[in-house]
Amino acid sequence: TERSMALAEQAKKVAAEFDFPKENVNKAVKEFLREMSEGLEKDGTELSQIPTYVTAVPNGTEKGLYMAVDLGGTNFRVCSIQLHGNTTFSLTQSKVAIPRELMVAKTSKELFSFLAKQIEAFLKTHHEEHYFHHIRRRNTGGQTKEEEIFNLGFTFSFPVQQVGINKGMLMRWTKGFDIPDAIGKDVCALLQVEIDELNLPVRVAALVNDTVGTLMARSYTSPGKTGTLLGSIFGTGTNGAYVEKLDKITKLVNKKDAGNYDNSTGEMVVNTEWGSFDNSLRTLPNTAYDIELDEKSVNPGIQMFEKRISGMFLGEILRLALVKLLHDPKVSLFKDENSATNDISSTTTIAVDSPIWKQWGIDTSLLSICAGDDSHGLRITRQTLDKDYGISAASAEDAEAVKIIAGAVGKRAARLAAVAIAAVVLQSGRLDTANPATTEQKENISPPRGNVQSEGRGEVREEDVIDIGVDGSLVEFYPDFEEHIRAALREVEQIGEQGEKRVRIGIAKDGSGVGAALIALVAGKVA
Ligand code: ADP
Repeated sequence: TERSMALAEQAKKVAAEFDFPKENVNKAVKEFLREMSEGLEKDGTELSQIPTYVTAVPNGTEKGLYMAVDLGGTNFRVCSIQLHGNTTFSLTQSKVAIPRELMVAKTSKELFSFLAKQIEAFLKTHHEEHYFHHIRRRNTGGQTKEEEIFNLGFTFSFPVQQVGINKGMLMRWTKGFDIPDAIGKDVCALLQVEIDELNLPVRVAALVNDTVGTLMARSYTSPGKTGTLLGSIFGTGTNGAYVEKLDKITKLVNKKDAGNYDNSTGEMVVNTEWGSFDNSLRTLPNTAYDIELDEKSVNPGIQMFEKRISGMFLGEILRLALVKLLHDPKVSLFKDENSATNDISSTTTIAVDSPIWKQWGIDTSLLSICAGDDSHGLRITRQTLDKDYGISAASAEDAEAVKIIAGAVGKRAARLAAVAIAAVVLQSGRLDTANPATTEQKENISPPRGNVQSEGRGEVREEDVIDIGVDGSLVEFYPDFEEHIRAALREVEQIGEQGEKRVRIGIAKDGSGVGAALIALVAGKVA
């Protein structure tokens, strides 16, 4: 009909505003590389490029029993991880909600002694023999043997100034926490003091960033012998950590009081904090919707890359685009007076309290639903609009318009993600190290997981693979997120089709568990 054609035209026009063509991808990659280098030289740059003091990634042969704890926001997670040394592991875990009053406790001791008590309870439940053996020995005046001590990785997802593998000062609390006396203190020491007070056989061996955990977890579990280059997260937020050559991290190696680290590998993992890439918008796309989202956010001008990529924001970008169409009298979105749903003609209505009218009202999962919907007349999308968004009897044409715009927002996010991945691949120099033309057949050794299906691209030799770990709901559940990333990687001039084939992308689950354990292991070797 005339109406549906006009609507489709409008939707395509809006979708086109989210185009991020080849030329712009290449410009952004160049800028990303520039900011990476700048961040390695000095502090206070757009990409923070934080040295993590982790100087090696695992290869899957690591063995042993480790502990990990994760303080991230609402929950405190305690786990023990048995690394089997053949790329597999077993994990036991418990989880407790942090009582609200402890988040704003008078002293940090209240919070950290609570955390230590959870570790004690976990040991009593899951490692009873180990725990009581240790207590008996202590009570009879014996010394704890080194091999009886659990090395623990502490994932602490608040901003810290890290100065050693198990030392970092809290810069500020976020996410509703507020315990002033903890600011400026070493959070590992705060935890260790409480652990020691309970006499537990536990050493806080490593302070862990969740992105670094993702890199380590992927490197341990990934097929093949080449260590993983990059761990990246596309969830609520986005970030990446990668393996850098130590001599390029000049702001660390030239510093006199840089603290201790093992320099024998010549490498160190760097936490890019890439969510704030190009905050000054030299190369990032910037639509009216991006501008409005940023202006109404709690941190305007900050995390500009993240605001175009991650789960926390994509739903809102879509919502702002839809609202603009709804306010345009010439456009007929959701104004069908004769929409045929299940053969019953009815008028489309939007509830007055529909989430579509509220900031953050649309969840990014709607983008995944639209992208994955190939049902007849987009029935699934229309049902979701009805059930979750108070938009009843939307027509197939309406749903198609939503799908077109949502697809454009999702595709742009994936192409931006590719900018970061491409820059890290180029920065590593790994593309220069082998000749992909001399390829041989190698079978796909691990089954595809979720939507991330590229484990092993048949024709590339194992030693030429550049392995990348990803985690987060967006990359896991958005259909074709990886395929859009790959298409953009091929468009990067210095990567092309040959380079893109060498990039293996795989899910890395559970960075704050097994990843943290692996960092505790690496740290234990140094100590
Ligand atoms: P976190 O990053 O907090 O550890 P997740 O990786 O689960 O957790 O990411 C949560 C984010 O992913 C939220 O912003 C949510 O809106 C978004 N999200 C949840 N489900 C989906 C989905 N199916 N497709 C795309 N995004 C999703």
